[in-house]
Amino acid sequence: MTYRFDHFIAGASSTPASGKYLPKMEPATGKPLAQVAAGDKSDVDKAVQSAYTAWPAWRDRRPIERGRILLKIAEKIRERINEIATIEARETGKPLVQALREVEGAAQYFEFYGGLVNVMHGEVIDIGAAYHSYTRREPYGVVGVITPWNAPINQGGRGIAPALAVGNVVVAKPSEETSGSLLEVARLAVDECGLPPGVLNVVLGAGQEAGKSLVEHPLVRKVAFTGSVRAGREIGRIAAERIIPLTLELGGKSPNIVFEDADLSLAVPGSVRAFTANAGQICLAGTRCLVQESIHDAFVERVTRAVKAIKVGADKDATMGPLTTKPQFEKVQEYFNVAKSEGAKLEIGGQKLANDESTAGWFVEPTVYSGVTNDMRIAREEIFGPVLAIIPFTDDEDAIRLANDTEYGLAAGIWTRDLSRGLRVAARLEAGQIYVNEYQAGGVETPLGGYKGSGYGREKGVEALHHYTQLKCVTIKL
Ligand code: NAD
Repeated sequence: MTYRFDHFIAGASSTPASGKYLPKMEPATGKPLAQVAAGDKSDVDKAVQSAYTAWPAWRDRRPIERGRILLKIAEKIRERINEIATIEARETGKPLVQALREVEGAAQYFEFYGGLVNVMHGEVIDIGAAYHSYTRREPYGVVGVITPWNAPINQGGRGIAPALAVGNVVVAKPSEETSGSLLEVARLAVDECGLPPGVLNVVLGAGQEAGKSLVEHPLVRKVAFTGSVRAGREIGRIAAERIIPLTLELGGKSPNIVFEDADLSLAVPGSVRAFTANAGQICLAGTRCLVQESIHDAFVERVTRAVKAIKVGADKDATMGPLTTKPQFEKVQEYFNVAKSEGAKLEIGGQKLANDESTAGWFVEPTVYSGVTNDMRIAREEIFGPVLAIIPFTDDEDAIRLANDTEYGLAAGIWTRDLSRGLRVAARLEAGQIYVNEYQAGGVETPLGGYKGSGYGREKGVEALHHYTQLKCVTIKL
């Protein structure tokens, strides 16, 4: 079955003004899966106008009423979880069980912010008896939420739910590679949950066309962008010119530090999950594994054994799917050549899967390199595939130095039985997310965002609500 995905504007399906569609291929087979509306400036304008028209009524509702609708959306997502996850799995290539977790995550964003909005309020500020001064947290108006293809519904929910909760209206622009799951959620929100038409719109199409037009639109007052550093920079320039606030959630090359006192029965599977989850297509992936010299050889041997057990494919029992896009598939293979030319030692993997009928899509082997130094390209550049670079270190200072020697700063892992060491090192690492004795721990409640080249602003948690509101201070002479 193939799909046709149109925009969702003012509560209804809307065909592209140009009449053009982009082809979308299925990662597991390389065959056509969908036709995706190629949105342009006029489609974006229609969506933004629809949102802007819906804004005053949505903004002026009691927060508890907005929250109730968000809670209903969470409930309906859960009722339709299999259907939404099936689209997500086919579009991204991820195993269904992983797609189910992502959809559940999206439901949790609506649940979390639907409840939280009731405790959002300003403050009274004491400046003496002659005045009464107070603050209000107010929405921006039309918010553009632009998301990538690696976890579309989860990232969509992450931006949309807090933005709506505090009274903004949204035009979402999912990746042209993964449009379907978010469209389903937008539809059910309006058709089944009472979200007024126009409050949430979805415009499809290419980044350079639909995405750029959204950032440039004069009625868009805030943009939340998740994606590559390249696009983040371009969007940042436009946002600076327009003087609108921007949240940038960009890439990473995150260190995962394994100290000699770590419990290897946890650190080995944790470090493998850190770089193979979602076939390595996770911004937070722990792809630079820093291992203390004294345990280096034993660790490499155990990691390699664990990677051997990963079942790559599209079967029901597969634990790792294909890469989501063909360019990504080609890019990861280029890095196999880069690693070879840089002299890294290949421990396992290093090629695409043999192309029989069951693996005709964009599958690569989970790959481990040892003998890596931190100046090699495979240690510095985000590959966005299941590729691990193992780098030895001598002591705590050496580990911290290597960990921070990167232009990125999204996440870092620390494995140690010595909690004091864990906390000391955590304080010194330049990254927005630090995990101790786990990788990618946390939930919708925990704030997420980057240091350095990984971006700015925060999503998730209570923190996100501050980024979707602007603060007004009112002072009255008594
Ligand atoms: P991408 O930057 O190519 O695209 C992301 C989104 O932006 C897509 O919807 C795309 O259509 C749009 N876009 C592209 N160029 C644009 C432009 N000039 N103006 C407006 N919109 C534009 O990224 P991708 O290849 O889809 O995703 C992979 C990247 O996303 C990786 O670098 C990854 O690390 C990053 N990522 C970051 C996070 C995070 O939370 N920090 C999460 C997931 C992915």
